[in-house]
Amino acid sequence: MFIVSCPTCGHSQRCQPKAGLVTDKRKRCVYCGHAFKIHADAPSSRIIRRE
Ligand SMILES: [Zn+2]
Repeated sequence: MFIVSCPTCGHSQRCQPKAGLVTDKRKRCVYCGHAFKIHADAPSSRIIRRE
């Protein structure tokens, strides 16, 4: 389980990608509908916290 931050509206939300697909996962923001990549290992990672 990840906590990710939307780059458009800044809201944080939960995300639970399947194992091994994290880097390609596109998360759709539940607040504004914007779809963004999570970037699990990149400096621009949207992940705030891993649970
Ligand atoms: Zn958003």
